[in-house]
Amino acid sequence: MSGVSDARGRLRLVLASANPDKAEEIRQLLGEQLGESVELLERPADAPDVVEDGETLEDNARLKARALLQLTGTAAVADDSGLEVDALGGAPGVRSARYAGEGSTYGDNVAKLLAALAGEQHRSARFRTVALVAFPDGEELVAHGAVEGRIALEPHGAGGFGYDPVFVALEGNGQTFGELDSADKHALSARGRAFRDLAEKLTARLT
Ligand code: IMP
Repeated sequence: MSGVSDARGRLRLVLASANPDKAEEIRQLLGEQLGESVELLERPADAPDVVEDGETLEDNARLKARALLQLTGTAAVADDSGLEVDALGGAPGVRSARYAGEGSTYGDNVAKLLAALAGEQHRSARFRTVALVAFPDGEELVAHGAVEGRIALEPHGAGGFGYDPVFVALEGNGQTFGELDSADKHALSARGRAFRDLAEKLTARLT
């Protein structure tokens, strides 16, 4: 297949995510699915920030993966994720990371979300993730994942990151993602779904 393999024939992928929380989850998910058949390389510390000005999650995942591919010459894997809240017309969506403004913290974004939904009964929402690998020959693999849920009235749990303390999956046990351990979150999460699908696609290319 196209792409770059290491001396042991493993597929080498450089991780395009600059967010350490997401990078850790991606490492866990690809490790679970692909084990030794993939070697995941850290994003170089001096890699410039990628301007995520795409209109869709897929655009932004592609921008990040291609930027790291160009910088390193190695196939790159990226994830772009967003939370869509129905009562807010799908916001924060592609702007989830900077919902409360440039440089906003997870806490700022959660506080803005809860304020925007104050008094709102209709709290349905979903996370979406696009996982994308860009190869040196221009080939691409793209996988999508989503999880339906609702926004809690207040934050619960110290696990996970981002909007996890206020997101309750419909298929779950009523706890927020912030209250779940990482294995239980991965079983339900948009990222878990996208990366399991991506791993299947990578495996199909490797065999
Ligand atoms: P991006 O994919 O780096 O643009 O991430 C968008 C934003 O969505 C992050 O900054 C988090 O606030 C949020 N986010 C992404 N993935 C998750 C998740 O698994 N749980 C909770 N929030 C997330």
